[in-house]
Amino acid sequence: MTDFDWTRDQFHIPQGLIYLDGNSLGPLPKMAPARMMQMMEQEWGEQLITGWNASGWMAQPTRVGDRIARLIGAEQGHVVMGDTLSIKVFQALAAALALNPDRRVILSDSSNFPSDLYMAEGLIQLLGDGFELRVVAPEEVEAAITPEIAVTLLTEVGYTTGRRHDMAGLTAKAHDNGVITVWDLAHSAGAIPVDLMRAGADFAVGCTYKYLNGGPGAPAFIYVAPRHADAAQPALAGWMGHARPFAFEQGYDAGNGIQRMRVGTPPVLAMTALDVALDVWDRVEMADVRARSVELCERFIAGVEQNCPQLSLHSPRDPDLRGSQVSFRFEHGYAVMQALIADGVIGDFRAPDVMRFGFAPLYVNERDVDEAIGILTRILRGALWDRPEFLERKAVT
Ligand SMILES: *Cc1c(COP(=O)(O)O)cnc(C)c1O
Repeated sequence: MTDFDWTRDQFHIPQGLIYLDGNSLGPLPKMAPARMMQMMEQEWGEQLITGWNASGWMAQPTRVGDRIARLIGAEQGHVVMGDTLSIKVFQALAAALALNPDRRVILSDSSNFPSDLYMAEGLIQLLGDGFELRVVAPEEVEAAITPEIAVTLLTEVGYTTGRRHDMAGLTAKAHDNGVITVWDLAHSAGAIPVDLMRAGADFAVGCTYKYLNGGPGAPAFIYVAPRHADAAQPALAGWMGHARPFAFEQGYDAGNGIQRMRVGTPPVLAMTALDVALDVWDRVEMADVRARSVELCERFIAGVEQNCPQLSLHSPRDPDLRGSQVSFRFEHGYAVMQALIADGVIGDFRAPDVMRFGFAPLYVNERDVDEAIGILTRILRGALWDRPEFLERKAVT
């Protein structure tokens, strides 16, 4: 059984704050500053360039990738860290399309995060040659998987509603139709149990600064199924993905398996913070996280619906169809969220009127949920959100 009192104690949550935005940026692991300082002073400071060998910086992307693999049901040796999620989406999509060369259609859905869709559009422009991005409603994805489709580009849990796709079912249907799958796990990794092996996923990508608590700008990950690992072309053919980076050869020769998905020099400092965050995950069972997350989300929905009739649930009601966040819609959602933040409850807002609340059991408990409901109720009953300072839009919402 996971000890959630222990996990909560591993994070710095500022006094008096209820943090319901771990779906955007996880909190600071208490151990991170000391470990980062130690790394900088003893490794970077003392070892300088020799740290690449002496402290294993060069192997860090696959070593940390193996720690992520455990959390997403991936084979060891088939996940690598680096770059940002947007870039990993591009790489996975390009590699997947090249594995299905007779087809031209990328299938995605309208709940996908814009950057994933932009990356697909950009890649299509680059490829020319009649490629097409087909975007359907999330409920229509299954029916749209036909032998015409080359690749599905789907985010398992949608960022606005928290709606969850049936990864295993859609992957099976895709394979029956000769379609390659790219799964974005941005709102899955650390939020819900993921089993890439069982689902038979072809490619997966994700970020580590949301539920995994790796810190702002923490590196992304990419998974390539073993059956594709030595056939997939990395698209971004950087020297770190070369079979012999330090031979400095003129021509590109893709490295073995997942190594080829590396692009350039790894972000060692950022990955060190992530490495610390993953220490917490070593003592966590995803099944426990899921059970607690469902309890917390159900408690929040029930409390809000009972006390705040102005808000309407924007997430699926059935927990099996949800990730680890709950969204409500309200015309004045932006101002309400600003008022909540001013009162120490941090969620976030997505245009036009969606208030999002993430429930990360590692550091959120029932008392937080009850207090958040109480504060939200007070703000709505007293229309305390209706003040100029809460109505003015900030750059990051
Ligand atoms: C958070 C998120 C991103 C962000 O991409 P970055 O390159 O890390 O900024 C992309 N896709 C999805 C589905 C996300 O949820």
